[in-house]
Amino acid sequence: MDFYQELWNKTKDILASNFSEETFNEMFVDVKKVVKEENGVIFVLTPSTYIKTKINNVYTKMIGETLSTLTNQKLKFKFVCEDEITSTTITKAPVKFNKNNLKGNYTFESLVVGESNRLGYITSMKVAEQPGIFVNPLYIFGGVGLGKTHMMQAIGNFILENDLNTRILYVQANDFIADYIKAIQNQNMQSFEDKYENLDVLLVDDIQMLSMGSKSQQEFFKLFNDMISRQKQIVITSDCPASKLNGIMDRLTSRFQMGVSVDIHQPDLSQRVNILKRKLAENSNKPLDESVLTFIAENFIDNVRELEGGLNRVLWYSEVYNTTPTLEVAKDALEVLIKAKKPKMNHNYEDALSVIANTYGINVVDLLGKSRSSKYVLPRHIAMYILKTSYNLTFSRIGNILNGRDHTTVMNGCNRIEEELKTNVQLKMAIETILKKV
Ligand code: ADP
Ligand code: MG
Repeated sequence: MDFYQELWNKTKDILASNFSEETFNEMFVDVKKVVKEENGVIFVLTPSTYIKTKINNVYTKMIGETLSTLTNQKLKFKFVCEDEITSTTITKAPVKFNKNNLKGNYTFESLVVGESNRLGYITSMKVAEQPGIFVNPLYIFGGVGLGKTHMMQAIGNFILENDLNTRILYVQANDFIADYIKAIQNQNMQSFEDKYENLDVLLVDDIQMLSMGSKSQQEFFKLFNDMISRQKQIVITSDCPASKLNGIMDRLTSRFQMGVSVDIHQPDLSQRVNILKRKLAENSNKPLDESVLTFIAENFIDNVRELEGGLNRVLWYSEVYNTTPTLEVAKDALEVLIKAKKPKMNHNYEDALSVIANTYGINVVDLLGKSRSSKYVLPRHIAMYILKTSYNLTFSRIGNILNGRDHTTVMNGCNRIEEELKTNVQLKMAIETILKKV
């Protein structure tokens, strides 16, 4: 223990020199004692839940970095209160409620926040800070691959970080059905109940799947009511708002609407680039040129999983061919994937330009021209957006088509439309109509 105590003392000394005296005194002065070490985790006693939570939320990263300057061993500090220590040492939480059920890397820290998910992020944080109290249930919905599962598990991981004994269960709705059917078939409800009874937090992923089992829905209804009446947190994700769920009993969907719903959208270009930067930092030390990241982000728009896939393919490709992942290499690496995604790419973009011009009652020369009159600006941005998203032209190529405009001008135009599309249904319809015509 002395070794670990010594490590904490040294870490503290370094922290003291990095913080103002006031902050240090408030946060760290009374954080003194190392109580135990287990599997590389050094447990440090904090004087209050407030201090513990604050350190875990705000200073973990910095403390981790400081620690890594002091030792080569893979060690981590964990800040706990007195009651947790006695209870974890005496009775260990059963394995099935252990962290194993959650992916350790699905945390709030690894989630890149932008306009697309800020509401969800802030709400989820609050839920994680006050499980069962802030809102119940929390209902997160959005398209495929936009980070719903990640966000939901971040809540779970956060709660566990603060209290190791929390009984958290993450389950996909179809596994809930499978568990229930198995219990009925084997005429053995015991293992089902062991798994689902007396939980503190229940995370149910892809609730739309529940439409496949009507008996299971009744069972879920019971579980749901039990959790809510005990003020235990439920988090649900779905591919649509609760009111739009098909094949799920009304008394369930109406209960889903009791709490708060948050929706996650597609990240815009800059957020996509940030996500790539984050993934890169997590997975490899290879630096990638900004132009490569932008290229990947431009081509994988509506699914973060695919966006990551694009990055991984570039890295893998450059490794196999033992080359530096330059923009050219990235283009080669992704060519097949991009082609597969963009069946419209072969069409002639000039068709699109004339349809856009026609739709807005102007001619193509003005559409591409320099006039900043408001009647040209919107169609011009739409043209940029369509050439980008449907014809897959690069920003600079589009800039050339538009009378030598700069690539950042085109990028801004595209971003504006992407932004606008989030709320402007009319614009969405207009663009769909244009695309149908070409
Ligand atoms: P969903 O459940 O909505 O289909 P996931 O949570 O499985 O999506 O996310 C797909 C992948 O994209 C995961 O690897 C996840 O970590 C990553 N991801 C999604 N959104 C973000 C984000 N904002 N920041 C970082 N990674 C993200
Ligand atoms: Mg998911």
